[in-house]
Formats: sequence, structure tokens, C-alpha cells
Amino acid sequence: MLKKILVYPRGEIAVRIIRACRELRIATVAVYSEADADSLHVRMADEAVRIGPAAAQDSYLKMQNVLSAALITGADAIHPGYGFLAEHATFSEACAACNIKFIGPSAKSIEAMGDKAHARALMIEAGVPVVPGSEGVLNDEQRALRTAAQIGYPLMIKAAAGGGGRGIRVVHSEDELVRELRTAQQEADAAFGDGSLYLEKYIEEPRHVEFQILADEDGNTIHLGERDCSLQRRHQKIVEEAPCIALTDSLRERMGAAAVAAAKAARYTNAGTVEFLLDKHGNFFFLEMNTRIQVEHPVTEVITGIDLVKAQIAIASGLPLPWTQDRIRVRGHAIECRINAEDPDRQFAPSVGEVKSLLLPGGPGVRVDTHLYPGYRLPSHYDSLLAKLICWGQDRNEAVARMERALDEFVLDGMHTTIPFHRRIMSNAYFRRGEVYTNFIQRRMET
Ligand code: ADP
Ligand code: ADP
Ligand code: MG
Repeated sequence: MLKKILVYPRGEIAVRIIRACRELRIATVAVYSEADADSLHVRMADEAVRIGPAAAQDSYLKMQNVLSAALITGADAIHPGYGFLAEHATFSEACAACNIKFIGPSAKSIEAMGDKAHARALMIEAGVPVVPGSEGVLNDEQRALRTAAQIGYPLMIKAAAGGGGRGIRVVHSEDELVRELRTAQQEADAAFGDGSLYLEKYIEEPRHVEFQILADEDGNTIHLGERDCSLQRRHQKIVEEAPCIALTDSLRERMGAAAVAAAKAARYTNAGTVEFLLDKHGNFFFLEMNTRIQVEHPVTEVITGIDLVKAQIAIASGLPLPWTQDRIRVRGHAIECRINAEDPDRQFAPSVGEVKSLLLPGGPGVRVDTHLYPGYRLPSHYDSLLAKLICWGQDRNEAVARMERALDEFVLDGMHTTIPFHRRIMSNAYFRRGEVYTNFIQRRMET
């Protein structure tokens, strides 16, 4: 077993990982920027190393600083969490070169899945259905126009290196395609350091359904069922739930098998997620694979009883998976609300401030993952996720009712948050019936 883990991320996921380490009696090292000196993860970890100033380029994104912190403190592993360098193949590779265990897949697997255009090609080879689209990267205007004519409009221009819902745009005509292609390339270049683009057919009102994968270092690969992450704003998830009520047992089995095949094609190890779009006719298409722990992993933990972060650490320690596919059981229903520091009354403009008062909800079936504490001053440099509120119920109705109750109990003063928006979602009649799709918020909420 590993003895000391450097916890690379900040925010709620750093706290989440430290908690898993505590339970496994593994020592922890936090890293932090100047702006995060007062962060909860810094206080909770056994040791903490400052790795630079507030700007992420000079701290969290400086790989040599992170690796130096690990070497100085004698950490034998790094948990990448999500965000920043978590999905950079060179990070996994650099850890291996320094003899530090990267708690995630190999550089090769990250590379295979990290470039989304390349991943599509790999999936086609593995027999996993992908969204109809271009074969590989397509930046040339003439070729893009020809391919677009074959796929048909509307379609999406996507950045091969994209993530976090950024670098995606819908185009309805040739004119629009020509116009958007160049700006998309410039934007992708600026945001991800890679301007490669690809095209995909625009699927109308799909659900986003993703499968949680666990794979050990002997190649045993299982899935822990799905999550429905259809509730999105600007291609970013805001509410996730499991199971997905649109799946029949046979569809779940086929999608699960496709997810496992996808992971095996990339020789995947550790935890990862295979994302699909599911159309109204029950057709599913591979979107991408996230080669890390995901924000919404708790909904799977709650209904399967499996601690995914501990599973990641066990896999990285070389232990075989203690479960086979037929041993995975799902109980009840779970929903997660992402509570962000944003003002829903002003187009979700970012909000900063100091946590004036804080009272977290509790009681049966309620879990809160957060790095907030009273008096905490929110830095303005990083992403806006404040807390994840996860509610479990014996069925979906009970989970929704608990979520409404927990949102009402949640006291968080000092900044604008998305709590009032989540209350509106939970009371929406369509949502209550489970009629969700990726443009639900646009269609049913923004009126
Ligand atoms: P990211 O890497 O940013 O997560 P994804 O490729 O996973 O990007 O897509 C994010 C979201 O954008 C999806 O969950 C879905 O809502 C929407 N989307 C992506 N591709 C398509 C498509 N071809 N048709 C319709 N919606 C799509
Ligand atoms: P999940 O796929 O787990 O639902 P998100 O798509 O919301 O998570 O992304 C998780 C975090 O990682 C967010 O902070 C997001 O901004 C960041 N992120 C994801 N992909 C990238 C990327 N390619 N470049 C930079 N940040 C990213
Ligand atoms: Mg995605």
C-alpha cells in the first residue's frame, strides 16, 4: 500500500481525496498557490507545500513545482484529482520518470483518449458507435465543407483538446461553418494550446449518459453503471443523477459493454468515465472518455456503496479489483447539485466574497462535499464550484424531495450562489417527471 500521497488538486476534490487517505491511514501532502494559503485542504493535510503565486500558470500548472514538492516531502504517489494537469499525459509520464506513482492511467492511455478526434478513430476501430462526424482532425476549410455536406447540418465544431464544456459550437449552414471555423481554431489554440478541430453531427435533444469505469493493472475492467448528466448550461453539467431512468436493462447492458470495450481499447487502468449521447430512439454514441475522477463521482458512490477514491488508490497500489461485474449492485436513486459561486439572476456572472455564515444540510440521505468554512475568503482565480450537494432516496421521487428539503436547509451567506436556481429545477414539472435532455435549461428554465 502507498504510504504518502501528494494531493495535487485544490478545492472540494482535494478535501475529498484527503478524506479517503485518512480512512486508509495514508499520509497526505497538499500543494497550494498563494491565493489558497487559507484553503481547507491545506489545513486538513498532514503537510503542505506552497508551489507559486495565485495565477495557475505559475503554480498549479507548473509541473516541475508539483513534482519537486512530491520529491522534497518523500511522497510515493500523486493523486491528480480533476482540473489543471489531471488529464495531461506528460504529467503521468513525468511522475513515472520520477518514480512517483500517478494515481490514474498511463500516459499512453491518456494520450489515446485525450485528443478527442483521435479517440473517435480508436472507438470506430473497437466497434463502439460514435457520433457521425469527421474522421480525425479537420481544420482545412474546403475539406470541412465537403465533410459537413456529407454529415448534414446542424453540426458541431469541437476542439480536439477541449474539455469543461468549452470549445464547442453549433453551426447551421455553410456560411456559419466558414465563419466559425477560424474563430474556433483561434479560441482552441488560446484555451488549450492546440487549435485542432473536428466535426460532429448535432444530435437533437439527447441525454448525456456516462458510465463509470474501474480497471485494475491486470486489465480487469468493470463498470459501475451510469449517470445521467443531461442538465447542463452551456455544455457544462449542473445536476447529475443515477440511475438514468431512460435506460432499460438491455440498453444498460449494451452501453455498459461498449464502455468497457472503449476502456479496453485504450488499455485503460484506474477510474475513468466513458461519455455517451443517447438520442430519443435509443441510439447511443460515444462522446469522449474522461481519464480521471469526475466531479459527479459521488452519485455513483451513493448508489453502489463503493468509495471510488479508495478504489483508485487500491488500483494504483497494484491490488486486483475486489469486484466482478455481476457483484455490482445499485440501490435507490441519487442526485447531485453543483453549487457554484454565480449569480443566476445575472446570467450566472461569477461572484466572489467571504463566507459570512454557513449551515450545511444534513439528516437522512444527505451528503455535502465542500471546501467551504465560515470566514473563508473565496479566491477569484479558479473555478466557481463551491459545494456538491448529493441526496439519496429509495426512488427518484424521494431523492428529489430530499434535495428540495436540503436546498432549503442550506445557509450560505456572503456571495451569490446557484442554490435558488437548483430550487427552481427541483420544482420544475418536467424535471420531476424525468423528462430531461441537454438543452432542458434553455427550453424549460430560461423563460
Ligand atoms: P467536453 O470535453 O467539454 O466535456 P463533450 O464532447 O463531452 O465536451 O460535450 C459536452 C456536452 O456538449 C455534451 O454533454 C452535450 O450536451 C453537448 N454535445 C457534445 N457533442 C454533441 C453533439 N454531437 N450533439 C449534441 N450535443 C453535443
Ligand atoms: P466532469 O467531466 O468531471 O463533469 P467538468 O467537465 O466540469 O467535469 O470539468 C472538471 C474540471 O476540470 C473543471 O474545473 C473544468 O474547468 C476542468 N477542465 C476539464 N477539462 C479541461 C481542459 N481540457 N482544460 C482545462 N480545464 C479543464
Ligand atoms: Mg465531456
